[in-house]
Amino acid sequence: GKPICECNSCYTGLDCSQLVPDCVVDADSGNPIFLEPFWRQNAATSAIMMAGWHRMGYEFEDGSLISKELEKKIRKLHATVGNAVTEGRYIVFGAGSTQLLNAAVHALAADASSSPAKVVASAPYYPVYKSQTDLFESAKFKFEGHTSSWMNSSSMNFIEFVTSPNNPDGQLKKAFLQGLNAKQIYDLAYYWPHYTAIPSPMDKDLMIFTLSKLTGHAGSRFGWAIIKNKAVYERMVNYMDLNTYGVSRETQLRTLKLLSVVLEGNGKQMFSFGYEAMRFRWEKLSKILSASKRFSIQQLTPQQCTFSNEVRAPTPAFAWIKCEKEEDKDCHATLSAAKIIGRAGHVFGVDSTYVRLSLVNGKDDFELLQHRLEMLVFQERLVNLMAEFTPGG
Ligand code: PMP
Repeated sequence: GKPICECNSCYTGLDCSQLVPDCVVDADSGNPIFLEPFWRQNAATSAIMMAGWHRMGYEFEDGSLISKELEKKIRKLHATVGNAVTEGRYIVFGAGSTQLLNAAVHALAADASSSPAKVVASAPYYPVYKSQTDLFESAKFKFEGHTSSWMNSSSMNFIEFVTSPNNPDGQLKKAFLQGLNAKQIYDLAYYWPHYTAIPSPMDKDLMIFTLSKLTGHAGSRFGWAIIKNKAVYERMVNYMDLNTYGVSRETQLRTLKLLSVVLEGNGKQMFSFGYEAMRFRWEKLSKILSASKRFSIQQLTPQQCTFSNEVRAPTPAFAWIKCEKEEDKDCHATLSAAKIIGRAGHVFGVDSTYVRLSLVNGKDDFELLQHRLEMLVFQERLVNLMAEFTPGG
């Protein structure tokens, strides 16, 4: 018969419990489905319903494109979590943070001198910084590669993306380029208690956040920027006006509802759920790979978290795998042969001995990934044992 639920592509049967033999594990996409069980538990309180006549117009009552109630809620959320300073700052909404990344580049490049602003990021970096800046390249800005290649240059006029924690490797990052010649865009998509300890509130000129990684509602396409400088804020507003004329009112309504649920009990519920899920996954993965000399993962250290008031174990959104052996120098191909699809290192501006594996997907995907990695490490031990017992080996 027809399955009663939508099965993950690796499972079949009426209750999706039968494993499809030889199925390929998708650890490529950063789809944050690990939070779905939390929203199932809170299905009723997080639901919205909209009558046909509601919010048909372009603007809110005050003539703006931004729900003031939602803006207030976002400020309250940051104050509760303690991850960003919003007092005295402006806020702009975007269709996901994706739209805001270019709005920010546009706004910061407007001051540029005669030559285009150089947009840079430090490798390994989130690939959209390059592909998007290339797409929109103009007389005002141009993607100019890795931050590190400009460290000792006397060039002027940089726009540096700083991603903290970083996608793909989960490290808390700082700006490399200092001084008047460089402006930073802080992409704080993962600066939430489920992915990192929060050492202190970020207090930067331009910070970007996204609902996608906060609550997992990537499909709603909602992000926001927190901006110190009024002129930069106005240029970003102008960008949004001309690009899409603001963010869908349905999305703003849904976001408001979701954030209200997040804020119940001062955010403890969702963030504990998220943290526990991610901690479990990182522990499993670290344990499996600790037995391997063929594959390693990034080193992350426990840190004091001001939100939870305790020292927290690492809980990155991605495993950043390195293939250590010469014969595995195309690490993506090695893992693909073992039916694990990750994202190759070159996509993030580094060599092909690295692969990113997503840890934020659904439980089925994670369990299968775990199983496939166990098999790989088991094989490695078998090969080593056989070599030991081979005469002359
Ligand atoms: N920045 C980083 C570092 C990301 O990982 C992502 C999503 N993978 C985004 C921005 C974009 O997310 P969205 O457009 O869904 O907000």
